Amino acid sequence: MRPVSSTLRTKMQRLGLRTLRGEQAWAERAADILPGGVNSPVRAWNGVGGHPLPIASAAGAVITDGAGRDYLDLVDSWGAGIVGHAHPAVVSAVRAAASNGLSFGATTEAEVELAEEIRDRYEPAQKVRLVSTGTEATMTALRIARAATGRDVIVKFAGLYHGHSDALLVAAGSGLATSGVPDSAGVTKAVAADTMVLPYGDVDALTDAFAEHGSRIAAVITEAVPANMGVIAPPAGFHRLISDLCRNEGAVFIVDEVLSGFRAGPAGGWGLERDADIAAGREPWAPDLVTFGKVIGGGLPVAAVAGRADLMDLLAPLGAVYQAGTLSGNPVAVAAGLATMRLLDDDAYAHLTRVSTMMRRGVSAELASHGITHAVGHAGTLFSVFLGLEEAPVTFDDVSRQDALAYSDMFHSLRGSGIALPPSAYEAWFVSLAHTDEHVGKVVDAIIAWGGREAKQP
Ligand SMILES: *Cc1c(COP(=O)(O)O)cnc(C)c1O
Repeated sequence: MRPVSSTLRTKMQRLGLRTLRGEQAWAERAADILPGGVNSPVRAWNGVGGHPLPIASAAGAVITDGAGRDYLDLVDSWGAGIVGHAHPAVVSAVRAAASNGLSFGATTEAEVELAEEIRDRYEPAQKVRLVSTGTEATMTALRIARAATGRDVIVKFAGLYHGHSDALLVAAGSGLATSGVPDSAGVTKAVAADTMVLPYGDVDALTDAFAEHGSRIAAVITEAVPANMGVIAPPAGFHRLISDLCRNEGAVFIVDEVLSGFRAGPAGGWGLERDADIAAGREPWAPDLVTFGKVIGGGLPVAAVAGRADLMDLLAPLGAVYQAGTLSGNPVAVAAGLATMRLLDDDAYAHLTRVSTMMRRGVSAELASHGITHAVGHAGTLFSVFLGLEEAPVTFDDVSRQDALAYSDMFHSLRGSGIALPPSAYEAWFVSLAHTDEHVGKVVDAIIAWGGREAKQP
């Protein structure tokens, strides 16, 4: 097991040895049966050190651990909790759905309503297939693209995350980016060879890849707003370039909105650019396929692949692309998603915009006043803070130069102030409809407390 970080140890000593024993005993029990003590890696706090207690409950913006300690939650189940934890409207929709039967293995009206809700907010989603995880959604998008083009090669960008299917767990190879190398043990070289990994935002690398390999490229996949290495603002014109190259070369442009969809703004990361294009009198670009997750399930497992009707109609039972799911469109999960989406009106986005803007500006101003070098990445309501960087990063190499140790120190200091930051320097900070101006003030005060101490060190 990893050692408990020194900051956490100090804090635990203040709280008394009993709790430290409690955390260690818990960590040992969980790790005895769950690999690493978790069911998804980032929960293990390897990025910041220490051992979290299990979560007991959450309500609104506050999450409570097994020792009864409350934290202002800036993780929000990685964005899914956009309306706040245990929102009464969502909980009652889930209760009502559950009492009508948990799963039928047959289509319900609510599935159609959720799909319509998605299409009505996001025009390029002409047709929708519901699945249970973002991983399934992106995996299916690749399969559709390969079927539509009769080609094998997928282009992705370093540092962006699209779930854990084999073809997408590929890292940049050394030298010319002609083919990737496995980014996880257990991914074969053959699979990795069909995935080309380019530096994010690199126009030359992208145009070169299309010039040399255009006729082999089935699809380009990117996050509408990269948010899995911290939040990166997509460089101006980058998505339009991908869209043009894909159209010219007959490849499929897949925009992954699993995290950003209905979160970065009312129509995800794409909607932010569409609005800017319309304001500037330009014809907006559009994805061919798009994937959703997180927000559309409101905390239960719902994700979707959607897009051009001609591509989506390649899916079975209409077409030759096989895809299925026993619990796809599960009625209880869909009820949570639908209730969540229906809370996301103009006022909701105005609130998310205001609170997220206040928080990123307030945190940045306090860090600056203590002379702490940092940058803030943001797009719409998504943001994250990079310590040790002078300017907002674009590529994974830029992000890797951040001061992850300082982040870990800040994480534990804020935890001591009752705030739960993401347990990694490579993640977005999330707010919800339940986060208020007072919560922003609490975060800013906690940054002042940490920054003052940090600034005194030589
Ligand atoms: C979370 C995420 C995924 C994977 O979704 P899961 O439901 O965890 O499988 C895919 N793409 C992006 C952009 C994500 O943030």
